[in-house]
Amino acid sequence: MNLTEQQIERYSRHIILREIGGAGQEKLLAAKVLIIGAGGLGAPAALYLAAAGIGTLGIVDADVVDLSNLQRQIIHFTSDLGRQKVLSAEDKIKAINPDVTTALYEERATADNILSIIKDRDYDFIIDGTDNFQAKFLINDACVLAGKPFSHGGILRFDGQTFTHVPGSACYRCVFPEPPPAGSVPTCSQAGVLGVVAGMLGTIQAAEAVKSVLGIGKLLTNRMLIFNAADMEFRTVRFKKNPDCAVCGGRPSITELKDYEPAVCDIPGISDISAAERSVE
Ligand SMILES: [Zn+2]
Repeated sequence: MNLTEQQIERYSRHIILREIGGAGQEKLLAAKVLIIGAGGLGAPAALYLAAAGIGTLGIVDADVVDLSNLQRQIIHFTSDLGRQKVLSAEDKIKAINPDVTTALYEERATADNILSIIKDRDYDFIIDGTDNFQAKFLINDACVLAGKPFSHGGILRFDGQTFTHVPGSACYRCVFPEPPPAGSVPTCSQAGVLGVVAGMLGTIQAAEAVKSVLGIGKLLTNRMLIFNAADMEFRTVRFKKNPDCAVCGGRPSITELKDYEPAVCDIPGISDISAAERSVE
């Protein structure tokens, strides 16, 4: 691939970085990132990845834009109310950067379709931008089985947490073996979320995707980044791969995907942080 004059100018602040250069920008343009959920996390991630020149962006979302989304899902505008989120997101991605090819999946990720979606374009990196635990466990298990790196993210109130899995590193199940009982954790709609927290976390996930594609820096593997925007405190909780993990351990019991029982209510992405801390050695 040869960068055009326009691309050299568009991506000049990347190209000037010693760690990226023209070759790195070409890698980004050849890269394929799948964003599952075009909501609070997926919106900022998609905008930044489009601007960065990720060549193919896949977007998975079955929902339409609702008025209560607009406080944080910044890829959707007031004029998009009632439109399918995948179409609304695609418009903004194309408006930011015509270099980007989009692949739209207007469906909810399930045990039946997630592996075929991941394989559809042979995505290089997956971003979990979902808002419920069933989806988070499904994405974890699918990415481990498919041997794909992914970024986990969860937000609630003023808190955010994120980590990155690559083949061989600890997975979500190494820390949280099973989803919490339905209804045991409040939701963003029940407990609220500061809109900018979604932006903070989604852009961290986008940064992990870019680093993973480029093979630069140190990914958030085997450690969970946890922050509280009210106190503006960030900390990292280290965790190890569990050799007995049900999906990534030596003798896995999960070898195919299944859908978890639908929750009684919609459960948000934030996990039980105290449980993560208990796993610190
Ligand atoms: Zn694991």
